[in-house]
Formats: sequence, structure tokens, C-alpha cells
Amino acid sequence: MRAMVLDSPRQLLRHAEIPEPRPGVGQVLIRINVCAVCRTDLHVVDGELPEPKLPLVPGHEIVGRVAEIGTDAQRFKIGDRVGVPWLGWACGKCEYCQSGRENLCSRARFTGYTLDGGYAECCVADERFCFPIPDIYADAEATPLLCAGLIGFRSLVRTGRARRLGIYGFGGAAHIITQIARYQGREVYAFTRPGDEEGQEFARSLGASWAGDSDSEPPEPLDAAIIFAPAGELIPLALKAVTRGGIVVCGGIHMSDVPSFPYKLLWQERSVCSIANLTRRDGDEFFDIAPRVPVRTSVQTFGLAEANEAMACLRAGKIHGAAVLVVQ
Ligand SMILES: [Zn+2]
Ligand SMILES: [Zn+2]
Repeated sequence: MRAMVLDSPRQLLRHAEIPEPRPGVGQVLIRINVCAVCRTDLHVVDGELPEPKLPLVPGHEIVGRVAEIGTDAQRFKIGDRVGVPWLGWACGKCEYCQSGRENLCSRARFTGYTLDGGYAECCVADERFCFPIPDIYADAEATPLLCAGLIGFRSLVRTGRARRLGIYGFGGAAHIITQIARYQGREVYAFTRPGDEEGQEFARSLGASWAGDSDSEPPEPLDAAIIFAPAGELIPLALKAVTRGGIVVCGGIHMSDVPSFPYKLLWQERSVCSIANLTRRDGDEFFDIAPRVPVRTSVQTFGLAEANEAMACLRAGKIHGAAVLVVQ
């Protein structure tokens, strides 16, 4: 099968012909239609996440159809449309798995990082960690829901009942979460790279009540903020923008170093937390609410062989919405 392969970090992906994987116990073989490009893929390729599987097929926002069923797999039938997310496997036995926090399982395996992912014609996946895709979504439109959507949703849930919500970094996750936040009756304040008027206009078109530069102050104090951009310097800026008791949720897997800041920015019970990975429960809840909003995604499509170009566009901030590789 054709695949885009990472041989070692900080290199371009190689377009290669590699053997098709076989489904193991409890796994299904999926013929991939589309796979989105996530910022995490950039962190993997850039060597910012430790010990990736190598060589590796990146990609963890996969939509395809079940083509073969492994021993003891019984959840899906041939031809079913499924999505494969970042969390590809968890042990089910450790204290985190047993307390509903499989996202923190130390033995967890991740699609497109420690397991081969979706920049390819096929992949195998543990059926328990796949999601059926709601019918209202076309393939490409569904891909960003699988990571940007559901990890973004976990970040949103973490803000509790915050009414005035700031979002820093208006890409794939933000464009989905803004729609859910508006549906829930919240006000969204969008912060983009300074001068990114196109991004700010995009945020307003999705219902943000205000959009501005990340170093500017919102017109009103915020109850919570979510940071999707991988820039540590946004943490003190977001803390400054939230009111007493407010929370700043960091939704990304990697951030540049956080500069020091005066304690008064944290004082009055402000807090900062990170969101790691996802649980299957997050996915079930998200795929329940998304079609009711209904969340719409905007995508820019590329061919499988154009994965390096798609990643370069994402890196340069040129994608509004999500970049999606169309495989077949
Ligand atoms: Zn575990
Ligand atoms: Zn992702």
C-alpha cells in the first residue's frame, strides 16, 4: 500500500510502498478514505515528542471503512464507516484506566505516534477505540472531529460553566469548539496571531462576539480561556484576561516554555491546567452533541502524496479550519 513515512524526526515524510498491515486480535483493518493533519503531527515530525515509533506512518484523524475483521473483533461489520482517534489503546487495568482516566494510562498507545496512523491507504485499529461516524458528516468533514473536535471538547468541558470564554489560537480545534460554545449559550472571544485579520474574520463568522490580537485585552474580563496555540507566552496573557476564579486550559500536547510571570496573575484562585489525550467517554459525548449543534467543519484538501505541503501550510498558519489528506 502507499503511505507517507517518517524515517526520523526533522525529515520530510517519504512517499513509499509498504506492506499492508494485518488485523490482530480485537482489531479491524480499515481502508482509509481521508486523514486530517493535526498540529500534533508537526510536533511528532519535529521531534518535539519523545520516542515515536520509527519508521512511522503519522496521522490520527482517520475516517475509513472496515475491510477486514481480526479474531475476536465483533463490534463492526465489513463496510462500516469508522473513525480512528489519537488514543489507540489503553491497558484497562491501571488505576487511571479503572477510574475513568484512560487518557492518562502510562501504557497507552497513540495513533500516528506509537502506532502507525492514517497517512496511508490502510491501517489497523483496536475496535474498542474506534468511533462510528454520524451520518450527517461527509468523510473529509468528519476528520477534524476526531482530534481537534474531541480534545477541544474535553478542554471546553474543563472550563465548567464559564459564560465568557476566550480562545487563543483559532485553528482546527477552535473553529469546532466555538460552535459548541455558542450552542451552549456562551460568548466566545477569539485571539489570533497579531495582525491575522483573516483569522479574526473567520472567528467572527462562526459566532465569536469579539476577535482580536493575542496580545490585546478583551473588552470584558473572561470567565475562562482555552489556549490551543503552542506558545507558552500565551499563558500569562490569558491569566491576565481571566477574572477571579477563572481557569486557563492548555489544550495542546506541546508548548514552548512559559515565561515567568508575577504571582498576582494567578492570585484570586485563578488556575492553569493542561488537557492530555482523550477518553472514549469524551468521544461518545462529543459525537452525541456535535450532530445536534450541528458542528460544521471547514477543510482544505490535499492528496496523500502532498502531506509535506499540507504540514508546511499548517505550520505557516495558512490553514483556516483543518488540512485533510484525501487518500481514496
Ligand atoms: Zn491503563
Ligand atoms: Zn491531533
